[in-house]
Amino acid sequence: MTDVSAVTAWLRAFAGVVEENKDALTALDSAIGDADHGINMSRGMTAVVAALDAGQFDTIGALAKKVGMTLVSTVGGASGPLYGTFFLRFATTAGEATSLDPAEVAKALRAGLEGVVARGRPEPGDKTMYDALAPALDALDTALAGGGSLAEGLQAASEAADAGRDATIPMLARKGRASYLGERSVGHQDPGATSTALLIATAARTLP
Ligand code: ADP
Ligand code: MG
Repeated sequence: MTDVSAVTAWLRAFAGVVEENKDALTALDSAIGDADHGINMSRGMTAVVAALDAGQFDTIGALAKKVGMTLVSTVGGASGPLYGTFFLRFATTAGEATSLDPAEVAKALRAGLEGVVARGRPEPGDKTMYDALAPALDALDTALAGGGSLAEGLQAASEAADAGRDATIPMLARKGRASYLGERSVGHQDPGATSTALLIATAARTLP
């Protein structure tokens, strides 16, 4: 079972990984955006860690809601509302639970993906964070349906997210700032897909 402390560990680990990758994420965004993705994610996750330090959360829903609201309110770029909505929808689905079984973890993550879709309207192949997140959650569902554990499912999800991130390189951007570049967006890895692959990799280390 995945409890409140496991979800807290996920967020703290992600904050650390974002800090380690801050410059790399910003460098990716400098090629096809406005060179702030690492800065945006770092600002948001630093505020999330401060909120975790300051608060006491009895349910996964309460914790994830605080995370989502913090990201929406502290990150100015597109990624703030997108990641924020991910965690707000995750929160609604997790609800009052104090722990989630593997199927419930998958369901909450998928609700998060649906929030990203509702917010940004990304479609497959648009060269966004969707292209890492959607295949990751498909891989998780497939692994769990085949009798795999949450650890196995999230490991498969992490591998699919990495492949999805790499697959953004040849894509032509159709959403977000990178879409303004048209053909010049081809040949560059999407920053949001890169941070999303890190989110799933840290989930695989902390949630099971
Ligand atoms: P901004 O583009 O406002 O500077 P960031 O640089 O923090 O924000 O985030 C850029 C990332 O956000 C992109 O790499 C992409 O993955 C993601 N993104 C942008 N627009 C959308 C959208 N409409 N749907 C899904 N993801 C998007
Ligand atoms: Mg940017």
